[in-house]
Amino acid sequence: MTAQVKTDRPPLIRVTQIRKAYRRDTQEILVLDGISLDVEEGDFVALMGPSGSGKTTLLNLVAGIDRPTSGTIHVGGAEVSSMSEGALARWRSENVGFIFQLYNLVPVLTAFENVELPLLLTRLSRAERRKQVEMALSVVGLSDRMTHYPRQLSGGQEQRVAIARAIATDPTLLVADEPTGDLDGKSGEEILVLLERLNDEFGKTIVMVTHDPKAAARAHRLVHLDKGVLEEDLRAEGKEIGVAAATLASGGRWGRGLEGTSKQP
Ligand code: ADP
Ligand code: MG
Repeated sequence: MTAQVKTDRPPLIRVTQIRKAYRRDTQEILVLDGISLDVEEGDFVALMGPSGSGKTTLLNLVAGIDRPTSGTIHVGGAEVSSMSEGALARWRSENVGFIFQLYNLVPVLTAFENVELPLLLTRLSRAERRKQVEMALSVVGLSDRMTHYPRQLSGGQEQRVAIARAIATDPTLLVADEPTGDLDGKSGEEILVLLERLNDEFGKTIVMVTHDPKAAARAHRLVHLDKGVLEEDLRAEGKEIGVAAATLASGGRWGRGLEGTSKQP
């Protein structure tokens, strides 16, 4: 299906008819098969779907880590699907913050140094970098852990450092790949509250891959990927999306029975 929305303002992300195939030996595996998706600036989108359905692939394409086999991807006016490696790397460092399931912090660097890493690619002076790092760590509530190494932090704290690193350059777009996937309920909850705040208060557009119905319930929009195509696209208010996500988690088919309440005719 097509999940492009018609509005006056151009969307922050416009994915048009992308296909992504990987070649393994002589075999070609088609992972994404004609996906179109718009994401408005300021939205918080949860991307769900079974393991292997291409969620990470789609996220990486939108974030400019990878390029589609065919089709186009525009983000904030830039066509990321056709940029050179170098241009893409520069674009990424200025526009996208990454949050991973396993945090991906550098173990030999302190929290401060981890958060400073993406800023080393910018023209900021040392003093300006310090200011940015301190601000980012204060947003995630870890001003008192700046000199700690990752192994001295809990999983939830590590993920908060990773989020501080993701926002240090003040990017428009945050992409998160199962950000609560390795955390216990309470720490996961803290991460979700933080993501919600970054969306709400700081206006970050967030695209989050998740298996967790509780995480999906925080998003404003739920997109479901299955067998290379976007199967459903539910924009919901308040609790409805939570019900939908919970139905999905229990093995039921979400969307069914909710259409009358959540989708405008
Ligand atoms: P998900 O995140 O939904 O679990 P992925 O996007 O990671 O799914 O993977 C989708 C499919 O693409 C899987 O079958 C996976 O094996 C394949 N795949 C992902 N990355 C590569 C790659 N770099 N090379 C070959 N196959 C890949
Ligand atoms: Mg994945």
